[in-house]
This record gives sequence, C-alpha cells and structure tokens, in this order.
Amino acid sequence: MSSTLITPTFAANRVIKMSDSKKNNFTGEQTKAIHAGETPDIVSGASSPNLVMSTTFVVDANAGFSVESMEENDTWVYTRWGNPTVHQLEEKLAVLEDAETAVAFASGMGAISALLFHLLKAGDHAVISDVAYAALSEITNEMIPELGIEITKVNTSDLEAIRKAIQPNTRLIYIETPCNPLLRLTDIAAVAGIARQSGAKLAVDSTFATPVATKPLALGADFVIHSLTKYLGGHGDALGGVILGKKEDLATLRKKTSIRLGGCLSPFNAWLIMRGLATFPIRMRVHQENALQVATFLEQHPKIKRVIYPGLPSHPQYELAKRQMKNFSGMITFQMENGREQAARFAEKLQIIHYAVSLGHHRSLIFYLNSKDLLETSFKLSTHEQLQSWDYFAGEGLFRLSVGLEDAIDIISDLQQALEERS
Ligand SMILES: *Cc1c(COP(=O)(O)O)cnc(C)c1O
Repeated sequence: MSSTLITPTFAANRVIKMSDSKKNNFTGEQTKAIHAGETPDIVSGASSPNLVMSTTFVVDANAGFSVESMEENDTWVYTRWGNPTVHQLEEKLAVLEDAETAVAFASGMGAISALLFHLLKAGDHAVISDVAYAALSEITNEMIPELGIEITKVNTSDLEAIRKAIQPNTRLIYIETPCNPLLRLTDIAAVAGIARQSGAKLAVDSTFATPVATKPLALGADFVIHSLTKYLGGHGDALGGVILGKKEDLATLRKKTSIRLGGCLSPFNAWLIMRGLATFPIRMRVHQENALQVATFLEQHPKIKRVIYPGLPSHPQYELAKRQMKNFSGMITFQMENGREQAARFAEKLQIIHYAVSLGHHRSLIFYLNSKDLLETSFKLSTHEQLQSWDYFAGEGLFRLSVGLEDAIDIISDLQQALEERS
C-alpha cells in the first residue's frame, strides 16, 4: 500500500474559521451546542473535532515571531497564541452566549484574574460582590489592593448600595448571579444601567446560571465569565474558564493575559469540555427538573430549617429569578441545625451523592459551608448590613448541594436515608 506524505504547508496549516453566516444557521440551543464552532477535519474528514496536541506548528518562513504582529486570521504558530481545538471551543461558547468572541483560560479563576489584571491599574477602583466565589473574594481582599487598586465590596442585590459605592475612578462593577454559595441574585439589567451612567464596565460571573438561563451581554453587561469546570464541561473531568464579550475588548485582553501571562487552556481540556457541551442544554433541563424535586423534598423535611433555590416561590427574589433566569439550574443551598455533625453524617452515609466540593457535574455533590469560617476568612463581611443580609438568606449550618443527573428519586432516597435518626 502506498502512502502519500502530506507536506506541511502554510495552506494546510490555515484554519477553517467559521464564517458569521454559518453561525447564524444554528437557531436552537441544542443545535448550537452540537455544531457551532466545529468543522470536519480537512485532511481525514473526521466528523468529531480534532484534538490537536501540538505546542508548535510548521509555518511559512514569513510568519512573524512576535505576538504584536499577530492578526486574527493568521495561521497557528504556537499553542499559547492559539490552538485549533481551543479555537473551536471558543467559537462554540461565543455562539451559545450570543457573544462576539470568547477567550478560554486554564480555569475559571484564570479567566477572572485575567479580567481583573487586564482592566484595573493602580489608582482604579472596582465595586465587587461581597459574597462570591471564595477565590475571587480572597484575591480582591489582598493581592489586588496590594497593586494599588481600590476595592469596595457590597451586596450587589442592593442597587442603592452599588450606587453609593461608585467613585469617579470606578472602572469595574463585578457581580455573580446567582452568587456562590447563597444563591442570592443580582438584577443584571439594573446594574448595567448604573455601570453605563458611571462609565464603568460590568462583568458578570454567570457560572451558576449558564447561557441557557441568562444572557448577561443582552442585558447590558460588557463581559461574561464562566468556570467551564462546572455546568458547561459538565462531567467533573476538566478545569477551564472563559471570558466572553466584544471583539474590540477581548483582542488586547487575549494578548495581554492568555498569551503573555500564560493561563491558556490545554487543547485536551478544550476537547473534553467541547464533548461535554454537546449535551449541555439537555443536561440543564434535567438539572432543573431534578433540583426542583429535591428542593421540594428538602423544604418539607422536618430537619431542614431552610431551602434556598431560585426556582422555589420561597426564594426571597423569586420574581427576579423568573424574569432573569430561563432555567433555575441545579444548585440548592439548605440550612440545618448542627451543621458540622450533619456534615460528618452525610459524608459517611450518602451513597450516591458524593461529599465533595465543586458543582455542575452529572454526579450529585454536597458540601458543608462553615458560615463563621467563610465570613471571617474568605468574605471578611464585617458591617452590620452585610452580616444581616447573610443571616437573612442563610446563617449557620449551610450545605451546598449540586443536584446531578441521576434519577431524582434516587437522589431523594439517598438524602432521606442519610437524614434518618440513628437507631
Ligand atoms: C468554580 C467557580 C469559579 C472558579 O472556577 P475554577 O474553574 O475552579 O477556577 C468561579 N466562579 C464560580 C461562580 C464558580 O463556581
């Protein structure tokens, strides 16, 4: 059998980038999740996306050595500058979020820190949600202020608190909705109005909501962030993060942060996340259905003091949830007496639900959040209003449950047996 050697040429290296007209052919969310960004391999005709595990690419002798000269439609040169597999994932995510463009990162925190480093410089001020993903809270308590950047933390569901916090040098308002772990919501359109008036950019961490529930860009946000590790990847096997927004905002961000600081996503993780994304809208429907059943079960269980789920009428912001979320997602926070003892019991007795951090996977996960520790270490909530708002929503003895894709009846039975008194 004779074989033809394919000589690597500039032409073969050239990527087929999806034209805007093709993007518009995908109307349904599920069709987008399957097809957007993907193109059959030009050499083999493979239907599933190519996993290109190469750090470098054979290029034309005219190719530039500096990223400064890099243009959007240049060939691939070096994987930190761009990689065909990562590019396909970025295209798919941009279509799902109705964004002009996307930049992928090695993790959600990689994306968040890139955005902060890109937008803020010494002398600038940012208004940040006082309850948010713990690592964001921690970097904005210390690392970012050490660079001469001023941070004000407020409860962003309180619009008046945001307005009061704005200063002439406010460059960024950063919100997370629903926020981790309280599931407190922020009205994105209202905050976008405040941002516009004050000349600040608005960034929304939409990891808990996902693009099937909420489209922050359409509501006036400038940037959307997702931890791809959660619902978008969906299977608990790959870390990743993304920032989505306008091309003009993200072109320099890509050069400054992903390419130079180097927090770029591995092509292997991009491939896994793309594989997970194929079923993303279907999964979100089941996450929501299961979570509603589990939340209803927990709400009527005598041992549970309080259940917080945006899809329940008992959620303090249920009206906003209905207006802003087309899917209530699969995250439930609930409160019990003797949290620490209960945590030990869950860790020992649960058989289906894993006692583990993280969320948004096909497997159900539960974790105890020690309010006192969190308030003192990560969030550093100190004012009377901040503590009052925390207590109003939750208080002590908090559990965060990420309802997975197992049958709801099995998740409920597992919780029920773990909640039973020891005989
Ligand atoms: C997990 C998470 C992050 C961080 O993502 P990683 O991929 O773990 O770095 C950021 N924001 C929210 C809301 C998260 O749940």
